[in-house]
Amino acid sequence: MSYPETPKIVKKNKKSKVVTFPSTQRISCPECGNKKEFLEVSDGVLLTTRFIQNSDGSFSQELDDSQVLGQVKFYCGDCGADLTQFHKRFLEMLF
Ligand SMILES: [Zn+2]
Repeated sequence: MSYPETPKIVKKNKKSKVVTFPSTQRISCPECGNKKEFLEVSDGVLLTTRFIQNSDGSFSQELDDSQVLGQVKFYCGDCGADLTQFHKRFLEMLF
C-alpha cells in the first residue's frame, strides 16, 4: 500500500500563524466609504445538485455542481455603487 504525497503539516498550533494585512488593503467604497457590507450578484446561475440513490431507495446529496454562467458583479452594500473592479480582491480575501 502506498500513500499519496501529502502536504507537510508539522504542527497544528492555532497561535503560530497570525496573518495580518495592512489596513490599506481593505476594500472601501469610493462613493460612501463603506467598508463593511458588500453584495455579490451573479447573473445566470445554473444550480445543479447531484444525488446518489442508495440501495434502499433513499437519496444522498453528493455534490453541488452550481455554475455561474453570466457575470459576477460586486456592489457596495450601503449605497449600491458598482465595485466590480474590487471583485478580484474580494475573492482573494474570501475565506
Ligand atoms: Zn457605497
